[in-house]
Amino acid sequence: MAATVRNPTIVGALACQKNSFLKKDFRTTVVQCEPTKKKSVYELILQDTILFPEGGGQPSDSGLIRSAGSKDEIVVSQVVRKGLNAVHLINEHVEPGTEVCLEINWQKRMDFMQQHTGQHLVSAILDDKWKLDTLSWSMGGVPTDKKPIVEPYELFNYIEIGRKLSEEELLKLSDACNDYITVQDQPITVTEHGSEAIDAEKGAMRTICIGKLDANPCCGTHLQNTSQIGSILFSPFQTSARGTNSRVYFMCGSRVLKYAKFAHTMTSRSKTLLSCSEAEIPQKIELQRAMTQKVSKREQYWMKEVANSKAASLFDAVVEKRKAWLALDEFGTLDMLSLVQKTLTSKIEEQKIEGYKFVICGREKATNSGVVMIVSDSADEIANVASSLGQLVEKLKGGGGKKGGKWQGKVAEYGKPEWDSLVQFLGDNF
Ligand SMILES: [Zn+2]
Repeated sequence: MAATVRNPTIVGALACQKNSFLKKDFRTTVVQCEPTKKKSVYELILQDTILFPEGGGQPSDSGLIRSAGSKDEIVVSQVVRKGLNAVHLINEHVEPGTEVCLEINWQKRMDFMQQHTGQHLVSAILDDKWKLDTLSWSMGGVPTDKKPIVEPYELFNYIEIGRKLSEEELLKLSDACNDYITVQDQPITVTEHGSEAIDAEKGAMRTICIGKLDANPCCGTHLQNTSQIGSILFSPFQTSARGTNSRVYFMCGSRVLKYAKFAHTMTSRSKTLLSCSEAEIPQKIELQRAMTQKVSKREQYWMKEVANSKAASLFDAVVEKRKAWLALDEFGTLDMLSLVQKTLTSKIEEQKIEGYKFVICGREKATNSGVVMIVSDSADEIANVASSLGQLVEKLKGGGGKKGGKWQGKVAEYGKPEWDSLVQFLGDNF
């Protein structure tokens, strides 16, 4: 027989808000279960719940529902607020009056509580030491349907304050917060204000106290003691926001260990790749960057030199036979070929030579791909050569030069003998 259904408990007085350490085996009754406009999504209201509906900067819990005496599990993907009700989103209908048992995704909840309670502590110290109000805060690293996997570098939360902290202040903030976690740990208590203090939008009002350090109205779920935050890691880098405001980045609890493992792996891999110690990594990267720039400048210089010299030889051939060709293997890149083509074309135009044609092609051995350029003052010549080359190289695709000028094509991949037959053809015909 169905249990007697009473009015659902309002937000602010939910079981998860009264005792945030209820993890599973919580018995309650279905008050209402309505279909939504979305296919197979139902909105379920329970008499009470240990699953927190998002609010106060804390994301929603997820969890499981079982009918009493049944092993079948229904997944609660999200809990949202509708008026003063906590509404559980599920994928099947459950009859009102059914007695059910709840379990929360505890790992996720504990992480949220560590970040959320950590934020209370950081905000309290910022206020206490420098009279800096928390203007806003955001919890990072919250998995979503679209992005269920969170990368370690996304685990930082931030608090926005009215100005940038100095390096020294940031160190003091870190020391003070971690001292309240490890040495002077503080109990965290919730004071309920009774049935008179019910806000039409926020529900039952409550105050969260961190020892004698801080008292704030908040609807979220909190740890029982600051020691449960574990530790707080602050990023030494702040970002500017809305004028002179600053965002201070931090992460708490098990995230710190996760991040430490990630950072250690990254530095270990980097020091092996760079053959240096951890401390030398930035210096070594600077050095490599400077070297790359130098080598790149040197490459540009020699490319220009080689292009000029190649263009000069090709120009001699054009003067003599009105035709010329060049095939650059190994590093026949587009930028190199373009340099030769542009230099040669401007020489030909300078001398007002007519009735010419030339082909420049290149292959990059590493990718086995390449570029082909056919240049002539005759559109017919261009079309003829393009057609001949197209018969030799299957994956040659290109266009241009319909009124004379340049036809340019790409070869996504050279077949085994194709490059050789292309070179042979050019040698025989140009
Ligand atoms: Zn809170």
